[in-house]
Amino acid sequence: MPELPSLREVVERHGLAARKALGQHFLLDPAICARVARLAGDLSGRHVLEVGPGPGGLTRALLEAGAAQVHAVELDPRAVAALRQVEAAYPGRLTVTEGDALRVDAAALLPAPRQVVANLPYNVGTPLLIGWLRDAGAFERLVLMFQQEVAERIVAAPDTEHYGRLAVVSQWRCACAVGMSLPPGAFSPPPKVWSAVVVLVPHAVQPEPALAAVMERVTAAAFGQRRKMLRGSLKSLGQADALLEAAGIEGTRRAETLSVAEFERLARVLLAR
Ligand code: SAM
Repeated sequence: MPELPSLREVVERHGLAARKALGQHFLLDPAICARVARLAGDLSGRHVLEVGPGPGGLTRALLEAGAAQVHAVELDPRAVAALRQVEAAYPGRLTVTEGDALRVDAAALLPAPRQVVANLPYNVGTPLLIGWLRDAGAFERLVLMFQQEVAERIVAAPDTEHYGRLAVVSQWRCACAVGMSLPPGAFSPPPKVWSAVVVLVPHAVQPEPALAAVMERVTAAAFGQRRKMLRGSLKSLGQADALLEAAGIEGTRRAETLSVAEFERLARVLLAR
Protein backbone atom coordinates (compact mmCIF):
# COMPACT_ATOMS: atom_id res chain seq x y z
CA MET A 1 0.00 0.00 0.00
CA PRO A 2 1.54 3.40 -0.94
CA GLU A 3 2.48 5.77 1.90
CA LEU A 4 -0.30 8.31 2.22
CA PRO A 5 -1.28 10.65 5.05
CA SER A 6 -4.24 9.58 7.21
CA LEU A 7 -7.66 10.79 6.07
CA ARG A 8 -7.87 13.07 9.10
CA GLU A 9 -4.59 14.70 8.08
CA VAL A 10 -5.93 15.15 4.55
CA VAL A 11 -9.03 16.90 5.92
CA GLU A 12 -6.85 19.21 8.04
CA ARG A 13 -4.22 19.99 5.42
CA HIS A 14 -6.75 20.80 2.73
CA GLY A 15 -9.16 22.69 4.98
CA LEU A 16 -11.91 20.21 4.13
CA ALA A 17 -14.37 21.48 6.73
CA ALA A 18 -17.61 19.75 5.70
CA ARG A 19 -20.09 21.82 3.69
CA LYS A 20 -23.72 20.96 4.29
CA ALA A 21 -24.84 22.20 0.88
CA LEU A 22 -22.59 19.57 -0.72
CA GLY A 23 -23.93 16.76 1.49
CA GLN A 24 -20.49 16.21 2.96
CA HIS A 25 -20.31 13.42 5.54
CA PHE A 26 -16.91 11.78 5.26
CA LEU A 27 -15.84 8.22 5.98
CA LEU A 28 -12.50 8.54 7.73
CA ASP A 29 -12.10 4.92 8.89
CA PRO A 30 -10.21 2.87 6.28
CA ALA A 31 -11.74 -0.36 7.61
CA ILE A 32 -15.27 0.90 6.89
CA CYS A 33 -14.18 2.12 3.43
CA ALA A 34 -12.75 -1.35 2.74
CA ARG A 35 -16.05 -2.97 3.77
CA VAL A 36 -17.95 -0.77 1.31
CA ALA A 37 -15.45 -1.54 -1.45
CA ARG A 38 -15.81 -5.30 -0.80
CA LEU A 39 -19.51 -5.05 -1.69
CA ALA A 40 -18.37 -4.37 -5.26
CA GLY A 41 -17.01 -7.93 -5.50
CA ASP A 42 -13.93 -8.69 -7.58
CA LEU A 43 -12.78 -5.35 -8.98
CA SER A 44 -9.88 -6.58 -11.07
CA GLY A 45 -10.24 -5.36 -14.65
CA ARG A 46 -13.21 -3.19 -13.63
CA HIS A 47 -13.60 0.53 -14.31
CA VAL A 48 -15.28 2.33 -11.44
CA LEU A 49 -17.08 5.65 -11.36
CA GLU A 50 -16.97 7.18 -7.89
CA VAL A 51 -19.18 10.17 -7.22
CA GLY A 52 -17.95 12.60 -4.59
CA PRO A 53 -14.64 11.12 -3.36
CA GLY A 54 -14.25 13.87 -0.71
CA PRO A 55 -10.97 13.22 1.16
CA GLY A 56 -10.65 9.91 -0.71
CA GLY A 57 -11.15 7.10 1.83
CA LEU A 58 -13.38 5.03 -0.43
CA THR A 59 -11.24 5.96 -3.44
CA ARG A 60 -8.18 4.47 -1.76
CA ALA A 61 -10.16 1.36 -0.78
CA LEU A 62 -11.32 0.82 -4.37
CA LEU A 63 -7.75 1.13 -5.66
CA GLU A 64 -6.46 -1.19 -2.94
CA ALA A 65 -9.20 -3.68 -3.86
CA GLY A 66 -7.67 -3.86 -7.34
CA ALA A 67 -9.93 -1.71 -9.55
CA ALA A 68 -8.25 -1.28 -12.93
CA GLN A 69 -9.31 2.35 -13.00
CA VAL A 70 -11.25 4.70 -10.75
CA HIS A 71 -12.76 7.82 -12.26
CA ALA A 72 -13.85 10.14 -9.47
CA VAL A 73 -16.11 13.12 -10.11
CA GLU A 74 -16.17 15.76 -7.38
CA LEU A 75 -17.86 19.14 -7.17
CA ASP A 76 -15.64 20.53 -4.40
CA PRO A 77 -12.29 21.88 -5.69
CA ARG A 78 -10.75 21.44 -2.19
CA ALA A 79 -11.35 17.69 -2.41
CA VAL A 80 -10.07 17.55 -6.00
CA ALA A 81 -6.81 19.13 -4.79
CA ALA A 82 -6.66 16.71 -1.85
CA LEU A 83 -6.81 13.74 -4.23
CA ARG A 84 -3.79 14.73 -6.32
CA GLN A 85 -1.54 12.81 -3.92
CA VAL A 86 -3.63 9.65 -4.32
CA GLU A 87 -3.52 10.06 -8.11
CA ALA A 88 0.28 10.17 -7.91
CA ALA A 89 0.41 7.16 -5.59
CA TYR A 90 -1.54 4.99 -8.05
CA PRO A 91 -0.09 6.06 -11.42
CA GLY A 92 -2.52 5.76 -14.31
CA ARG A 93 -5.29 4.20 -12.21
CA LEU A 94 -7.07 7.25 -10.76
CA THR A 95 -8.57 10.18 -12.64
CA VAL A 96 -10.24 12.96 -10.70
CA THR A 97 -12.52 15.37 -12.51
CA GLU A 98 -13.98 18.51 -10.99
CA GLY A 99 -17.63 18.66 -11.95
CA ASP A 100 -21.24 17.79 -11.28
CA ALA A 101 -21.94 14.05 -11.39
CA LEU A 102 -25.48 14.79 -12.58
CA ARG A 103 -23.94 15.93 -15.87
CA VAL A 104 -21.66 12.93 -16.31
CA ASP A 105 -22.43 10.12 -18.76
CA ALA A 106 -20.74 7.15 -17.07
CA ALA A 107 -20.98 4.92 -20.13
CA ALA A 108 -19.19 7.52 -22.24
CA LEU A 109 -16.57 8.20 -19.58
CA LEU A 110 -15.52 4.64 -18.71
CA PRO A 111 -15.04 1.46 -20.72
CA ALA A 112 -16.85 -1.75 -19.70
CA PRO A 113 -16.96 -3.64 -17.43
CA ARG A 114 -17.98 -0.67 -15.34
CA GLN A 115 -19.40 -0.15 -11.88
CA VAL A 116 -20.51 2.82 -9.82
CA VAL A 117 -19.36 2.77 -6.20
CA ALA A 118 -20.12 5.83 -4.10
CA ASN A 119 -21.00 7.30 -0.75
CA LEU A 120 -23.53 9.59 -2.39
CA PRO A 121 -24.28 13.18 -1.42
CA TYR A 122 -27.78 12.92 0.05
CA ASN A 123 -29.18 15.85 -1.88
CA VAL A 124 -28.59 14.30 -5.32
CA GLY A 125 -28.58 10.57 -4.51
CA THR A 126 -32.03 9.76 -5.88
CA PRO A 127 -31.73 11.72 -9.19
CA LEU A 128 -28.32 10.12 -9.79
CA LEU A 129 -29.76 6.64 -9.21
CA ILE A 130 -32.70 7.28 -11.55
CA GLY A 131 -30.31 8.43 -14.28
CA TRP A 132 -28.13 5.30 -13.92
CA LEU A 133 -31.20 3.02 -13.87
CA ARG A 134 -32.29 4.35 -17.28
CA ASP A 135 -29.00 2.98 -18.62
CA ALA A 136 -28.74 0.03 -16.21
CA GLY A 137 -27.48 -2.38 -18.87
CA ALA A 138 -24.27 -0.33 -19.06
CA PHE A 139 -23.25 -1.38 -15.54
CA GLU A 140 -22.09 -4.60 -13.97
CA ARG A 141 -23.05 -3.40 -10.49
CA LEU A 142 -23.87 -0.26 -8.52
CA VAL A 143 -22.84 -0.02 -4.88
CA LEU A 144 -24.42 3.08 -3.42
CA MET A 145 -24.62 4.60 0.04
CA PHE A 146 -27.88 6.43 0.78
CA GLN A 147 -29.79 7.65 3.78
CA GLN A 148 -31.40 4.54 5.31
CA GLU A 149 -34.88 5.73 4.36
CA VAL A 150 -33.95 6.00 0.66
CA ALA A 151 -32.33 2.55 0.81
CA GLU A 152 -35.58 1.18 2.25
CA ARG A 153 -37.54 2.78 -0.59
CA ILE A 154 -35.29 1.06 -3.15
CA VAL A 155 -35.58 -2.48 -1.74
CA ALA A 156 -39.17 -2.31 -0.43
CA ALA A 157 -41.58 -5.17 -1.17
CA PRO A 158 -45.21 -4.60 -2.27
CA ASP A 159 -47.71 -3.91 0.48
CA THR A 160 -45.08 -2.34 2.74
CA GLU A 161 -44.74 1.24 3.91
CA HIS A 162 -41.82 2.25 1.68
CA TYR A 163 -43.00 0.59 -1.55
CA GLY A 164 -43.46 3.10 -4.36
CA ARG A 165 -42.11 4.28 -7.71
CA LEU A 166 -38.47 4.06 -6.64
CA ALA A 167 -38.84 0.39 -5.61
CA VAL A 168 -40.63 -0.51 -8.83
CA VAL A 169 -38.15 1.16 -11.17
CA SER A 170 -35.11 -0.07 -9.22
CA GLN A 171 -36.29 -3.68 -8.97
CA TRP A 172 -37.55 -3.74 -12.56
CA ARG A 173 -34.02 -2.91 -13.69
CA CYS A 174 -31.88 -4.58 -11.03
CA ALA A 175 -31.68 -7.12 -8.25
CA CYS A 176 -31.50 -4.85 -5.18
CA ALA A 177 -30.31 -5.65 -1.66
CA VAL A 178 -29.04 -3.72 1.35
CA GLY A 179 -25.38 -4.67 1.79
CA MET A 180 -24.67 -2.90 5.06
CA SER A 181 -26.03 -0.21 7.38
CA LEU A 182 -23.97 2.40 9.19
CA PRO A 183 -24.82 4.54 12.23
CA PRO A 184 -24.38 8.34 12.09
CA GLY A 185 -21.17 8.05 14.16
CA ALA A 186 -19.40 6.29 11.27
CA PHE A 187 -19.23 9.64 9.45
CA SER A 188 -17.55 12.96 10.05
CA PRO A 189 -19.56 15.04 10.69
CA PRO A 190 -22.31 12.60 11.68
CA PRO A 191 -25.55 12.98 9.71
CA LYS A 192 -28.88 12.99 11.58
CA VAL A 193 -29.90 9.55 10.36
CA TRP A 194 -28.48 6.07 9.67
CA SER A 195 -27.10 5.27 6.23
CA ALA A 196 -27.21 2.09 4.18
CA VAL A 197 -25.37 0.73 1.16
CA VAL A 198 -27.58 -0.74 -1.54
CA VAL A 199 -26.07 -3.19 -4.02
CA LEU A 200 -27.86 -3.15 -7.39
CA VAL A 201 -27.05 -5.81 -9.98
CA PRO A 202 -28.73 -5.01 -13.32
CA HIS A 203 -30.84 -7.79 -14.87
CA ALA A 204 -29.25 -9.36 -17.95
CA VAL A 205 -32.19 -8.29 -20.13
CA GLN A 206 -33.19 -4.64 -19.89
CA PRO A 207 -36.48 -3.19 -21.20
CA GLU A 208 -36.52 -1.36 -24.49
CA PRO A 209 -36.80 2.45 -24.19
CA ALA A 210 -40.43 2.60 -25.42
CA LEU A 211 -41.58 0.16 -22.72
CA ALA A 212 -39.55 2.01 -20.09
CA ALA A 213 -41.23 5.29 -21.06
CA VAL A 214 -44.70 3.73 -20.70
CA MET A 215 -43.71 2.13 -17.37
CA GLU A 216 -42.84 5.60 -16.07
CA ARG A 217 -46.30 6.86 -17.08
CA VAL A 218 -48.06 3.90 -15.44
CA THR A 219 -46.19 4.13 -12.14
CA ALA A 220 -46.54 7.93 -12.04
CA ALA A 221 -50.31 7.66 -12.50
CA ALA A 222 -50.71 4.74 -10.05
CA PHE A 223 -48.58 6.15 -7.23
CA GLY A 224 -49.63 9.76 -7.90
CA GLN A 225 -52.85 8.82 -6.13
CA ARG A 226 -51.69 5.82 -4.14
CA ARG A 227 -54.72 5.72 -1.81
CA LYS A 228 -57.13 5.47 -4.75
CA MET A 229 -58.23 2.25 -6.42
CA LEU A 230 -56.41 1.66 -9.70
CA ARG A 231 -59.57 2.07 -11.77
CA GLY A 232 -59.57 5.68 -10.53
CA SER A 233 -55.86 6.46 -10.40
CA LEU A 234 -55.21 5.10 -13.92
CA LYS A 235 -58.03 7.14 -15.50
CA SER A 236 -55.53 9.67 -16.87
CA LEU A 237 -54.07 6.89 -19.08
CA GLY A 238 -57.46 6.42 -20.80
CA GLN A 239 -59.84 3.42 -20.71
CA ALA A 240 -58.55 2.38 -17.29
CA ASP A 241 -61.06 -0.47 -16.87
CA ALA A 242 -60.13 -2.07 -20.20
CA LEU A 243 -56.44 -1.63 -19.47
CA LEU A 244 -56.74 -3.33 -16.08
CA GLU A 245 -58.85 -6.14 -17.47
CA ALA A 246 -56.40 -6.83 -20.30
CA ALA A 247 -53.59 -6.99 -17.76
CA GLY A 248 -55.64 -9.30 -15.51
CA ILE A 249 -55.61 -6.90 -12.55
CA GLU A 250 -58.64 -6.08 -10.37
CA GLY A 251 -59.60 -2.41 -10.66
CA THR A 252 -60.31 -2.26 -6.93
CA ARG A 253 -56.67 -2.84 -6.01
CA ARG A 254 -54.32 -0.03 -5.00
CA ALA A 255 -50.90 0.78 -6.48
CA GLU A 256 -48.97 -0.34 -3.42
CA THR A 257 -50.30 -3.93 -3.74
CA LEU A 258 -49.01 -4.49 -7.29
CA SER A 259 -45.85 -6.47 -7.91
CA VAL A 260 -43.22 -5.19 -10.32
CA ALA A 261 -44.32 -7.90 -12.79
CA GLU A 262 -47.93 -6.63 -12.61
CA PHE A 263 -46.78 -3.08 -13.33
CA GLU A 264 -44.89 -4.41 -16.32
CA ARG A 265 -48.03 -6.20 -17.56
CA LEU A 266 -49.94 -2.91 -17.42
CA ALA A 267 -47.14 -1.15 -19.29
CA ARG A 268 -47.06 -3.82 -22.01
CA VAL A 269 -50.82 -3.58 -22.56
CA LEU A 270 -50.63 0.20 -22.74
CA LEU A 271 -47.70 0.06 -25.16
CA ALA A 272 -49.55 -2.37 -27.42
CA ARG A 273 -52.58 -0.07 -27.70
N1 SAM B 1 -16.74 9.62 -0.64
C1 SAM B 1 -16.41 10.48 0.48
C2 SAM B 1 -16.42 9.68 1.74
O1 SAM B 1 -17.06 8.62 1.75
O2 SAM B 1 -15.79 10.11 2.71
C3 SAM B 1 -17.35 11.67 0.58
C4 SAM B 1 -18.82 11.35 0.61
S1 SAM B 1 -19.87 12.75 0.93
C5 SAM B 1 -21.31 11.92 1.53
C6 SAM B 1 -20.42 13.27 -0.69
C7 SAM B 1 -19.38 13.89 -1.60
O3 SAM B 1 -20.00 14.24 -2.84
C8 SAM B 1 -18.75 15.18 -1.09
O4 SAM B 1 -17.35 15.11 -1.22
C9 SAM B 1 -19.32 16.29 -1.98
O5 SAM B 1 -18.45 17.38 -2.17
C10 SAM B 1 -19.57 15.54 -3.26
N2 SAM B 1 -20.66 16.08 -4.13
C11 SAM B 1 -21.80 16.72 -3.75
N3 SAM B 1 -22.58 16.98 -4.80
C12 SAM B 1 -21.93 16.49 -5.90
C13 SAM B 1 -22.22 16.46 -7.28
N4 SAM B 1 -23.37 16.96 -7.77
N5 SAM B 1 -21.31 15.90 -8.12
C14 SAM B 1 -20.15 15.37 -7.64
N6 SAM B 1 -19.83 15.36 -6.33
C15 SAM B 1 -20.70 15.92 -5.47
